[in-house]
Amino acid sequence: MVLLGTGTSVGVPTLGCDCPVCRSQNPKNNRTRCGVVCGLPYGNLLIDTPTDLRAQLLREGVGVVHAVVYTHEHADHIFGLDDLRLFPFYLGGPVPLYGEASVRERILKSFDYAFDPPADMHTGGVPRLELRPIGTEPLEVLGARLTPVRLRHTRDVAVLGFRIGNVAYCTDTNGIPPASMALLEGLDVLILDALRPRPHATHFSLDEAVAGARKLRPRRTLFTHMSHELEHEATCAELPPGMELAFDGMRIPLT
Ligand SMILES: [Zn+2]
Ligand SMILES: [Zn+2]
Ligand SMILES: [Zn+2]
Repeated sequence: MVLLGTGTSVGVPTLGCDCPVCRSQNPKNNRTRCGVVCGLPYGNLLIDTPTDLRAQLLREGVGVVHAVVYTHEHADHIFGLDDLRLFPFYLGGPVPLYGEASVRERILKSFDYAFDPPADMHTGGVPRLELRPIGTEPLEVLGARLTPVRLRHTRDVAVLGFRIGNVAYCTDTNGIPPASMALLEGLDVLILDALRPRPHATHFSLDEAVAGARKLRPRRTLFTHMSHELEHEATCAELPPGMELAFDGMRIPLT
């Protein structure tokens, strides 16, 4: 699994800000919008199409994406979707996009041109996409078993985390329901939302994320979706053993 982006919705550096983290020369303080790509037996699975997608895939040398699964409908997780446009040429068909109803509706609305292109549009002028429904039942994608994990985010927007083997990716949450805690036992790696030191209405603060990780007891915990309020080295130095801030380009084995 490659962590393509580990930043909150506005990214770090943050426009108009000249705080020490935004001015930092340490690449680990440079955080693009959140997404990951998983190398699975039959291809590359993206989790979300973040706003920075094209630059992220180029940076990590990922030439083709074979399928996408979505956590939720928020803009920072969706708006890189047009960058999927080239992949149907390699796949020989539309790119499968797995998402809940709210995600599919958002994509149909925001990318209406992809589903109803003008008659004179040239091939490849719009992304060719195939929306596939998912729920909370485990599913088989590209030769791997994916377990969706329901997470709390905002009052109106539900989120799915995903477990693949002993690795789980849980972004954009400020609460893990008890039934979902049970799905996250025995992990080698937990990747968990931790926005900033202060509490937030829709994301875990760092302390809340640490407390969540302590309950789940994975072998290793990586925090993601971070704002410019978390300096990489200083924060990592204060975290408990087995916990660290993730960074763009981090690679972890799928076990
Ligand atoms: Zn987000
Ligand atoms: Zn800043
Ligand atoms: Zn969100």
